[in-house]
Amino acid sequence: MRILLTNDDGIYAPGIKALARALEGLGELIVAAPDRERSATGHSITVFHPIRVDRTNIPETTARGWIVEGTPADCVKLAICALLDEPPDLVVSGINRGPNLGTDVLYSGTVSAAVEGIILGVPAIAVSLTTYDYDADYSFAASFTRRLCEEYSRQGLTPDTLLNVNIPPLDEESVAGVKVTKLGVRRYENVFEERKDPRGKSYYWLAGDVIDDLEDPDSDVVAIHENKVSITPIHFDLTNYAIMEDIQRRLSGMLR
Ligand code: MN
Repeated sequence: MRILLTNDDGIYAPGIKALARALEGLGELIVAAPDRERSATGHSITVFHPIRVDRTNIPETTARGWIVEGTPADCVKLAICALLDEPPDLVVSGINRGPNLGTDVLYSGTVSAAVEGIILGVPAIAVSLTTYDYDADYSFAASFTRRLCEEYSRQGLTPDTLLNVNIPPLDEESVAGVKVTKLGVRRYENVFEERKDPRGKSYYWLAGDVIDDLEDPDSDVVAIHENKVSITPIHFDLTNYAIMEDIQRRLSGMLR
């Protein structure tokens, strides 16, 4: 199995090192990751600038590949369309520092890198550790991700669907189980902080306190609150099928 590793925290982040170490021996490990942190870049791609790359590796692993002056989506697109002779069997994005739950997946570079994989027909897994702690322990998240990849090397994955995996920062004994979930709702309060610059002019800094909607017991947000590993199958068809007919009916008289 050939596995393409990427992330949005940058090539030097601890999460991608933990991931590469955990997947060691599972197959050929190829890395294409941003040269710096690119969190919250969503599915942004680089269009108006060239994308420069350099050869790299992840220390103490067999992972070899490229450091990319681009976004997470750039990394996957470039690797599959230009850098590699043939596509990988799996894209694994992570392990992200911080959760990617509910509506936040739309802002997530980690998830978007996985979406780019499935756009190009390669099954993908996005993995996030649900803490922002810089000293967090990635070991359970990494070993769980290995088990998932082993499962998919045997079973295969639908190429139009990625798995968005969120893992609590706990050891295996403390984790309360694994749950397949749907995307929940996360809202933010006090989203922008207004400050003054030295010349008295206002500027704004995006921050905000998260408020999780805990109504739906099947949501990813609730699973993480219950200290479970949350796995949400995601595809990128954003069509609202349920209201297509209604809109067609209302609009059908608009043109003579
Ligand atoms: Mn990140």
